[in-house]
Amino acid sequence: MITLTDISKVYKNGSLEVQALSPVNLQVERGEFVAIMGSSGSGKSTLMNIIGCLDVPTSGSYNLDGQEVHTLNEDQLSRVRNQKIGFVFQSFNLLGRQTVLQNVMLPMMYAGIPRETRNERAMELLARVGLAERVKHRPTELSGGQKQRVAIARALTMKAPILLADEPTGNLDTKSSYEIMDLFKQIHAEGTTIVLVTHEPDIAEHADRVLLFGDGKLLKDTRKGSVSS
Ligand code: ADP
Ligand code: ADP
Repeated sequence: MITLTDISKVYKNGSLEVQALSPVNLQVERGEFVAIMGSSGSGKSTLMNIIGCLDVPTSGSYNLDGQEVHTLNEDQLSRVRNQKIGFVFQSFNLLGRQTVLQNVMLPMMYAGIPRETRNERAMELLARVGLAERVKHRPTELSGGQKQRVAIARALTMKAPILLADEPTGNLDTKSSYEIMDLFKQIHAEGTTIVLVTHEPDIAEHADRVLLFGDGKLLKDTRKGSVSS
């Protein structure tokens, strides 16, 4: 599903260069649930941005679901992103002036999906994340855990095969964090490939595979029930 071959990323600010990713080689199969760990500055966000087609690598190749995406231009990348990837962020990124239902319908509106279908699918997804009673509320009227459920519902609207989550439990208390991880597990069980960044070992434990990054390199690749390689 995701094949990164010799991916490197160098940020240039004037004469200053930062090597955020040294050649990284990584393959994630369809249906995997992967957690990415590593200290601050180890390259996790850079990697997630590349996987999510929000940024392009300096060198190397990226094959996403059979497509060589490192060769695509902005417009093509944006199309791939909309079709293939759902995003969940630490800070939820919901629109405060819109209702829960409107927030979830937004990606479908951009995609030109008819109003009735949008409404129906959004209601279905909100019921699935346990927020059927909250569709008319605004995000400010919800708890952190509930806001993240809205964001997850929104991330599922386009039926993307991949869900990328950057510290999805970073702003949540322990109980809400576990509820969110349970939701991810359900989504995973239904076939979605999940890649999640977390600082917390207890959260990473929910994944089937843990990648440890340090200094822009993949240091350790551990699959549940096996020794690390
Ligand atoms: P993490 O997500 O693990 O904290 P990042 O991918 O954000 O790590 O950063 C990796 C390295 O790249 C760090 O040294 C960081 O300072 C640097 N970096 C990240 N984004 C930029 C940028 N836009 N410009 C310059 N350097 C950056
Ligand atoms: P976190 O709170 O987990 O650090 P952010 O909300 O800051 O995550 O977003 C992480 C990265 O994703 C940022 O570089 C940001 O520009 C980008 N981003 C945030 N929201 C969106 C969005 N809705 N669509 C595309 N990219 C986004």
